Amino acid sequence: MRVGVLAVQGAFARHGAALAELGAEPCFVRTPADLAGVRALVMPGGESTAMSRLLLTSGLFDAVQERLDAGMPVFGTCAGMILLAGEVLDGRPDQRSFAAIDLTVRRNGYGRQVDSFEQDLTVAGLDSPFHAVFIRAPVVIRVGPQAEVLAEHEGVPVLVRQGGVTVASFHPELTEDHRLHAQFLQEVG
Ligand code: GLN
Repeated sequence: MRVGVLAVQGAFARHGAALAELGAEPCFVRTPADLAGVRALVMPGGESTAMSRLLLTSGLFDAVQERLDAGMPVFGTCAGMILLAGEVLDGRPDQRSFAAIDLTVRRNGYGRQVDSFEQDLTVAGLDSPFHAVFIRAPVVIRVGPQAEVLAEHEGVPVLVRQGGVTVASFHPELTEDHRLHAQFLQEVG
């Protein structure tokens, strides 16, 4: 199965490796033509303001929006979560998001002194904890009524799903544990 990894900026390589290890065929998406060939998309961590800008200048933004509106499954991690959220606080004024999930997030919301941390999470559907790496992560401020919280850290949602849209505020591609990518592939079918 061909699964795209948005590759305009950020931590896309390790997502590709995780998908390949699970038997999917990763395809790095940089143009609308790349996107046309994939069944689902991963949006990696990185810098959401830079990604937003590059998505707009490459002509990819509208193409991705069209596929998302048509129901393409997507897994957004960290900056990817920001790009998919309905409302972004502390973003740049010109930063765009796809509003694919009813969520309010605050960029860099975990604050400077704890820019990065690691935490074992209890995740719905997994029978043992998932070791999560948070890097200048967004904080989820509000979750819409249609969205399902799959994991929390100190009472704050960190893994959320709404239909075919799954978002994590951490980086699941940075460890050897690929269970969240496997769950995503299972949903894609
Ligand atoms: N702070 C970044 C942003 O605003 C996200 C960090 C990450 O993806 N690791 O886009």
